[in-house]
Amino acid sequence: MAVDEAMNDSIKNVHKELREVFASGRTVGGDWRESQLRGLLDLLYENESELTAAMAADLGKPPFEGWVTDLLTTRDDARDALAHFRSWMKPTKYKVPVMATPGKAWTEPQPLGTVLIISPWNYPIQLLLVPLVGAVAAGNTVLLKPSELAPATSAILAKLVPKYMDGDAIRVIEGGVETTTELLNLPWDHVFFTGSTRVGRIVMEAAAKHLSPVTLELGGKSPTIIAADANLPIAARRVAWAKYLNAGQTCVAPDYVLVDKSVADEFTDLVVEELIHSRDKAPATSIVNASHVRRLEGLLDDHGGHELLPRKSDPTSRSFAPVVVAEPDPGSALMEEEIFGPILPIIKVNSIDDAIEFVNDRPRPLALYVFTESPETERRVLDRTTSGSVCVNHLMFQVATSMPFGGVGPSGMGAYHGKSGFDTFSHTKSVLRRPTKGDLKATYPPYPKVTQRIIRKVTRWPNK
Ligand code: NAD
Repeated sequence: MAVDEAMNDSIKNVHKELREVFASGRTVGGDWRESQLRGLLDLLYENESELTAAMAADLGKPPFEGWVTDLLTTRDDARDALAHFRSWMKPTKYKVPVMATPGKAWTEPQPLGTVLIISPWNYPIQLLLVPLVGAVAAGNTVLLKPSELAPATSAILAKLVPKYMDGDAIRVIEGGVETTTELLNLPWDHVFFTGSTRVGRIVMEAAAKHLSPVTLELGGKSPTIIAADANLPIAARRVAWAKYLNAGQTCVAPDYVLVDKSVADEFTDLVVEELIHSRDKAPATSIVNASHVRRLEGLLDDHGGHELLPRKSDPTSRSFAPVVVAEPDPGSALMEEEIFGPILPIIKVNSIDDAIEFVNDRPRPLALYVFTESPETERRVLDRTTSGSVCVNHLMFQVATSMPFGGVGPSGMGAYHGKSGFDTFSHTKSVLRRPTKGDLKATYPPYPKVTQRIIRKVTRWPNK
């Protein structure tokens, strides 16, 4: 179903108004950027309980977890940008070629213009507002499109963003597929999309019509390798934690485990114990909706392995208890599709090299995890696999830093967080300036012999 004509006109108007605000030059200076970052921090500090309550309503997210995963991460990125964006704005000097001497050459970051940010539902505040940090730190006008599958969070952000930030330069449009489709018909200066690989393709195709550059933060199956020398109790506790958090609905969650056969039984028993402990003692985030519960039930239909924890799921209450599946068929849907839920497949491998081969036979993942006490094993895995990021002896914390975060190949393109977010939303403009005084005629054709001799000498071109 297409959006109605009035809605379509209003989407076009918002786009036009955002372009006008950008063209006015108001967002380019450092003071505007600083005031927006400060506004964003106030938004988080002053509305903590409403924001965590909205995520609890949408996803059953326990408030402390929502605060850590969404508010604290966004706060940290905004503070990092606030502390550094003026130095990120500074020009970088370059050498001028001898024929253009005297002169000056430099690059300066320039805002891209009017950008579109589309986010998913699983960390509905972080994944909308951290890209926004980069976009405003870089001086752009922005349209935010939160996920319709987290409606309470979408509504509160639509209310708060214009209240705390420049409501003419940063707009929010709520809506689902139809609205996003209309938005993607417009010529944005950048489209920043976080979501599934399937929709990532749609976004890139739509952006290609206008040659709008894209950042795609996508999903996939992130492997965890457990080496024979791993600290097994710690590995099991951390893997279980990462799979349980947000009910496994995390783009960088450990999708499946490849464990050295010599420690496979011990690791599997430990991880099962840890998941039972979490299941029985800790509140669980819900599955986002009934159809995703049914999708997860479907993944358990025909995996060819054996299940080590009892199935307990209910589409009505959106609950799904953790399940461990030992030795699933590598060709099953469970091992081919992104799980995005609390199911943990565990596969035995003969060696680290076999684990590396298994990973390299599949699409390049967003994240990769390895548990080992050996620097050689760690180096081997780092050198021989390609993934968006790696965390050694823990999981997911690589994302909660100001290091660039992004995928590679089918898990995404481009990156953000910290300076990389600023860079993503900036154009690096190269400028060269020459004085007009003292222009030497001898540097224009026909080049006199003396000029040729001098230029050869100063460029240290070897004589024949
Ligand atoms: P999704 O791709 O279904 O939706 C993401 C956004 O795209 C939403 O705002 C939605 O309205 C919009 N959308 C959906 N279908 C569309 C269509 N046909 N045309 C245009 N727009 C459309 O993703 P999701 O279910 O919200 O999130 C889960 C996926 O996101 C998983 O694959 C997960 O791995 C990935 N993800 C990636 C990251 C990351 O940082 N790399 C973070 C979180 C989630």
